[in-house]
Parts: sequence; structure tokens; C-alpha cells
Amino acid sequence: MKTLVAVAFGVVATSSLVAASFADKSAGKSVPPAEAIQRLKEGNGRFEGDMAEKPRAHEARRREVAKGQHPFASVITCADSRLSPELIFDQGLGDLFVTRVAGNTFGKDILGSVEYSVAVLGSRLVVVLGHRKCGAVDAALGHSHNLPGSIPAVVAPIKPAVKLTTRVPKAQRLDATIVENVRVTMKRIPRESKIIGDMMKKGQLRVVGGVYDLETGAVTWVK
Ligand SMILES: [Zn+2]
Repeated sequence: MKTLVAVAFGVVATSSLVAASFADKSAGKSVPPAEAIQRLKEGNGRFEGDMAEKPRAHEARRREVAKGQHPFASVITCADSRLSPELIFDQGLGDLFVTRVAGNTFGKDILGSVEYSVAVLGSRLVVVLGHRKCGAVDAALGHSHNLPGSIPAVVAPIKPAVKLTTRVPKAQRLDATIVENVRVTMKRIPRESKIIGDMMKKGQLRVVGGVYDLETGAVTWVK
């Protein structure tokens, strides 16, 4: 397995120069950021209105993407079972490159995966998607005690968002921290990824954030 991962993702470890040449190769098949976000907004509108088309999930699409993938957006989201990017944005096979960890934060492995989707596969939109009633954010707020095993390591990157909401009334604090946690992750991406930071400066790529409502199905975009 390790060898397979190393082969598939080996290119991530290369220099930004090499990454740039990969970006050039994928550029012709890239969807511009504005169009990518429009597709997601329209798809979420269909899902929210119970009019999902469930597109590009048939045999022909399966065979098409087996030859190669060009996902139009890269999504970092929570592992929560009540949220699936392909479902809530009404997209199909090969449309979204999704990396998930409870609390929609990232470490080197997830950041490298996002860089792969951008530099090699041609995604020009990175979405950080949080959701209401997030248990990981709730845990970071200290509502879960004596977290066992490796769970504290998942909660730790959410702590900076917790610090930003100390003055928010208790009743609104979970929602406010969820939004701040999306913003913190959005800001960290270009700061910690030169590949993504450079492309953002050139206007070639956008990082956007949203919060999904488990009950209504709507994504509210974060400014
Ligand atoms: Zn969550």
C-alpha cells in the first residue's frame, strides 16, 4: 500500500517548478474558478430543493473517468456521515477531489493531496466545507471530556478558531466557531502551500469556504 501511495502521489514531493509544468499540462482541461463555484452553487440548489439530478454516475461516465480525472474542484471537508460533497453539490464521478478529516482542517498529508488535485489534476477551486452541529468543533470547545486515543490530535488544529470566539454568547458559540474554523483553514492553505499561494496571486485559483446545514441541505458561503 505504501508503495502504491508513493507511486500515485510521488509527484507531490517534486519542486514547484515541476508542479508548474504539470499545471500547464492540466490547464487546458481546467474549469475557471468562477465557473467552478457556479456549478457548485447550482448543484447545491438542486439538492436543497429536492431536485437532484445525480449526474455523471452511469457506466459511460465510469469508463470515461477511468482513463483520467480532471476534477473541477477540490474539497476539504469533515468526515461527518451526514455530509457527502458529491450528494450535496449534486455532482458525479470525477467531478470533485475530496479530502476529509473530522473538523475540516489539514495536516501535511491532506495539504499534499489538495496540491496534487491542483498541480497535477487541474482543479482551480479549493473549497473548505464545514457544517453545522460539527462534533469535532464541539469537542474543541471543550464539550467533550477525556478524549481517548488520537482524537486530541484531530481537535488541536480547531483550537485557533476556538480562541477567536471567546466573546460569543454560549448559545451562538458553536455556530460561530464552525465559521471561524472554516476561515482559519482557508487562510492557512495559501500560507502553507507555495503552489496554491502562487496560483492565487496570479488569479488562477480561488479558495472559498462554506458551511453546510444538515437540516436544510443548504451551503452558506463564508466571506
Ligand atoms: Zn464535523
